[in-house]
Amino acid sequence: MSTYPDTLLLIDGVWRASSDGRTIPVINPATEEVIGQVSHASTSDLDAALEAAARGFIVWKAVSALERSKLMRRAADLMRERAEAIAPVMTMEQGKPLAQSRMELLGAADTIDWFAEQGRRTYGQVIPARAAGVLQITIKDPVGPVAAFTPWNFPVNQVVRKLSAALCTGCSIIVKAPEETPASPAALIRCFTDAGIPAGVVNLVFGVPAEISGYLIPHPVIRKISFTGSTPIGKHLAGLAGLHMKRATMELGGHAPVMVFDDADIDQAVSLMAMHKFRNAGQVCVSPTRFLVQDGVADRFLDGFAAAAAKLRVGNGMDPASDMGPLANERRIPAIERMVEDAVAKGGRIVTGGRRIGNKGWFYEPTILADVPATAAIMNDEPFGPVAVVNRVQGVDDALAEANRLPFGLAAYAFTGSSATSHRLRAETRAGMLSVNHLGLALPEVPFGGLGDSGYGTEGGSEAVEAYLDTRFVTQML
Ligand code: NAD
Repeated sequence: MSTYPDTLLLIDGVWRASSDGRTIPVINPATEEVIGQVSHASTSDLDAALEAAARGFIVWKAVSALERSKLMRRAADLMRERAEAIAPVMTMEQGKPLAQSRMELLGAADTIDWFAEQGRRTYGQVIPARAAGVLQITIKDPVGPVAAFTPWNFPVNQVVRKLSAALCTGCSIIVKAPEETPASPAALIRCFTDAGIPAGVVNLVFGVPAEISGYLIPHPVIRKISFTGSTPIGKHLAGLAGLHMKRATMELGGHAPVMVFDDADIDQAVSLMAMHKFRNAGQVCVSPTRFLVQDGVADRFLDGFAAAAAKLRVGNGMDPASDMGPLANERRIPAIERMVEDAVAKGGRIVTGGRRIGNKGWFYEPTILADVPATAAIMNDEPFGPVAVVNRVQGVDDALAEANRLPFGLAAYAFTGSSATSHRLRAETRAGMLSVNHLGLALPEVPFGGLGDSGYGTEGGSEAVEAYLDTRFVTQML
């Protein structure tokens, strides 16, 4: 039987309780039992974290890129060694099946490795000068101490991208990790402290999110903000960052369209999308939500998709037989219930699912709705749960018009056998990421980010590193 640890703050290299002893209970979403406590930082703890991050920055930026990279790779190795032990902790606090927790943890190790290497390539430039004897160069410097705010859906993956980008460039960081799922991100950060990261370079706090962001973002020590979460909160934090002239990366909500055309491999589309939609109970910013299926294959796609959804075994993520766990927190249940009721009231129909399962644990059936009008809430607001809508479209124009209708622009998916159709989709789909005929998103080496209301900046690929660097220009007459 796995045990669940209480979670402390990490400030200036010391794991400790908050100065006033306050804690927040952590609840297992599969059982609704309190399984542990997380320390709630006081203002004096935040001040201590800020002072530590300021000192940590001076220490860490002086460490060579090669040494930083070696230390990060040691942390990645520790994560690989510990993944099996951390996975049940993540499942107990977040709900996802053990296999998905393991995958997230091993993926985190790969992310650390990639950033560790990329940090060694933060090259400046020599720019050809107009006059003889003039040297023009750019120099890349770490931007400074970072404040990172991360959500509960991928407790480790959301931290590791921000942490790795900050560390590989020489920044220090204060992570405000999710209070609902604190122990697995703390275990990630412990891999770095055990690998030998100097005191103050990485700090971990928890508390009331709005109080912490309201304190850290305007603080003069903090030079860069990175936030993952909902669009309304992202807009608020981006505004605060702008007011204080801080750099910001915003990874916000999405409402991913999936365009399936008559010439697609329908079996492949069904099997990939059934797996992808219900992963992490649909609580994924790139989760496919609006399925726009061309008339000729709509019935076949819907039948296959509904059959695959109905077959999924929903249960406690600790049970290896479970394909899908509970929703991660209590407020997701009424949020999903409201959206499904509203879709039906507006004329949509439930093809499969549509109900909460039992009354202990926050389980909800894998749900597929069809023929839902664009006026329904679920067609406009991110469901962030195990619910998909399948609507019919006539062709490419129709599909693109609906795909691009919303202010979000995070992920989009398409299935087609036509190169002409793919070409149009590549050119005209308004999304930060488009995956055609396969699932290829979220690798460390490729961009991960959105357009419009889905935010700005990327959390993967070389641009993710650039966001943690200042570019300085020096010109010199030799
Ligand atoms: P929420 O909007 O209250 O919170 C979303 C996240 O932001 C949480 O982790 C929360 O701790 C944090 N947060 C909230 N207010 C904050 C503040 N003032 N300063 C700093 N952090 C703050 O919603 P929720 O009920 O936790 O989640 C529901 C919605 O959030 C979902 O519908 C989804 O749109 C979005 N969400 C998105 C992601 C993502 O990966 N992009 C992850 C989790 C939640």
